[in-house]
Amino acid sequence: MICKKCGHKIEENQKFCANCGAEIDFNSTDVIPENLRPLSPWAYFGLQILFSIPIVGFIFLIIFSCKKSNINRRNFARSYWCSLILVAVILVIYLLVFINVFQSINI
Ligand SMILES: [Zn+2]
Repeated sequence: MICKKCGHKIEENQKFCANCGAEIDFNSTDVIPENLRPLSPWAYFGLQILFSIPIVGFIFLIIFSCKKSNINRRNFARSYWCSLILVAVILVIYLLVFINVFQSINI
């Protein structure tokens, strides 16, 4: 279990957080702090569609990569950058191969 206030790990028998001293309510359903809240599969799907929109998606991608309000969303945005770079590299390789093949046919 995790402290709602600071995200520190809490043992099952503790009544107070060892890090920040907040009282732990074991009956509370939202014990996960907002910034660590898991995203649903649909949220990931929605983000993916949002990021694929030209220009607007790119702006959101930059914002979500820096925002700390939800770590899962931030990490997903950052991993999306890796995909973008990978796609760019593959496109450049394809382009170079295509140009080489095209030139060798012409000669
Ligand atoms: Zn705490």
